[in-house]
Amino acid sequence: MTAVQVRPVQAVQSAPVTDRPIVEVSDLIKVYRHGRTETIALRGVDLSIAPGEFVAIQGRSGSGKSTLLNLLSGSDRPTAGRVTIDGIALEQADETQRAQLRGRVVGIVFQSQNLADLLSLEENVALSARLAGRDSGHAAVRARLAEVGLEERATHHPSHLSGGEQQRGGVACVLAALPKLLLGDEITGELDTATAVRLLDLVREVHAKTALTVVLVTHDPLVAERADRVIELRDGRVVSDRRTSWTPS
Ligand code: ADP
Repeated sequence: MTAVQVRPVQAVQSAPVTDRPIVEVSDLIKVYRHGRTETIALRGVDLSIAPGEFVAIQGRSGSGKSTLLNLLSGSDRPTAGRVTIDGIALEQADETQRAQLRGRVVGIVFQSQNLADLLSLEENVALSARLAGRDSGHAAVRARLAEVGLEERATHHPSHLSGGEQQRGGVACVLAALPKLLLGDEITGELDTATAVRLLDLVREVHAKTALTVVLVTHDPLVAERADRVIELRDGRVVSDRRTSWTPS
């Protein structure tokens, strides 16, 4: 296996660190209704995440993790309760504020299909930067790809990349958009252990060098091991919330 060359992540300050939580959730309830069938996915979740925290949200399948992430990203609406992201109360946000939130404040990395296959890797990164109003020039795009060790894959289309490379490409897109908050849904889900560890080390490195807040939803213990705070959901409720003392090996 060839070693991945990862260039040091540029020290960028995406946001001044303030005392105001970047994520505030209170009494969040989500009920899915299909005809007469009701599923209560979240049963009153309270959560506060400070800028710069690295948080893993754990729980078994069906515990409500993805539902919570969708509500934090503003891509779904709660049945009741409040979500405030970087001071924007989502239930009151108009379309402009929601778009601003998705474009500049929140970056999302999914398990897969993060990248558009019609575009090359560098075009994906440039698009992500442009949508967020960031530098989408050739040099900036190449720098982001170098940071994730994918400079030589710049002109490849995502379907010609391995799962690990696609995930790193997703991280490059987030880096290019320079958000304050990175939300990840099972980002190591389809990766072998070595590749997952490399991806998580990269996310940790970005986190250490920027003001980025990281919230990763996962059932992968590798992720929780690397977080500074682990929140556990069970049946739509927070059942534990603990600080950890992870140090790089
Ligand atoms: P997790 O991410 O922890 O696996 P989810 O948030 O996906 O949990 O799901 C929580 C509960 O909500 C589960 O019982 C799931 O079946 C249900 N659920 C999730 N999405 C939907 C949906 N779109 N429609 C109906 N039920 C859903």
